[in-house]
Amino acid sequence: MISSQLNKIQAQIYLAEITHNRVAHSVNLLAVSKTKTASDIACAYRAGQRHFGENYVQEALLKKDCLSAFDITWHFIGPIQSNKTKMLATKFDWVHSVDDVKIAQRLSAQRPDFLAPLNICIQVNISDEESKSGVKLHELPDLIATVSTLPNLVLRGVMAIPAPQSNFHAQREPYKKLVSAVNALNMPELTAFSFGMSDDLEAAIAEGSTWVRIGTALFGSRNYTSSH
Ligand SMILES: *Cc1c(COP(=O)(O)O)cnc(C)c1O
Repeated sequence: MISSQLNKIQAQIYLAEITHNRVAHSVNLLAVSKTKTASDIACAYRAGQRHFGENYVQEALLKKDCLSAFDITWHFIGPIQSNKTKMLATKFDWVHSVDDVKIAQRLSAQRPDFLAPLNICIQVNISDEESKSGVKLHELPDLIATVSTLPNLVLRGVMAIPAPQSNFHAQREPYKKLVSAVNALNMPELTAFSFGMSDDLEAAIAEGSTWVRIGTALFGSRNYTSSH
């Protein structure tokens, strides 16, 4: 089940790359495993998936312990509380959801020297919705400038979660806006564009995503009643 869904999503990604003039295999799949079990992750792993994204630190660490024999790259994609930065800095490879200078400073200070620098994306709020997560586009240059100076972080790019839209063209608009704002900064080292989820994967790829974060389409719908 998970392995056939994985194949299906890989095929959709490839088709979207071809359709929208993207380089083949330039879009990475981040499997979003929040609320799913370690054995769900193991199924996807056996089918070839290596990058997994989690939103809740405690839950992620329990699963990570079970899966320590697996060569998994762990991405954190959820809201960051300052009392959790130590766990993020010590246990994860990527953090996509940085939107605050103090959080970035803590992550750098707490990243152990024996690990490679922590890969960072800055989360941008491109829909101006009520959601508090993400910096506004006009705040992005300042945060980029600060994060770039932090020694134990590597700034890879930007992440976004726009408000849901029902049609393909409306889905593309916020991504187009984000990508052109980032391009205007003229920083070719920013190569990670973390956007696109189960419902807008094609629109995201059409606009330049390099990391689509897929949960539901891969693992099925989530049940939040158990642990959160
Ligand atoms: C849950 C989540 C996803 C996955 O969403 P689906 O619609 O299930 O594919 C992607 N990104 C973030 C930040 C999430 O919290």
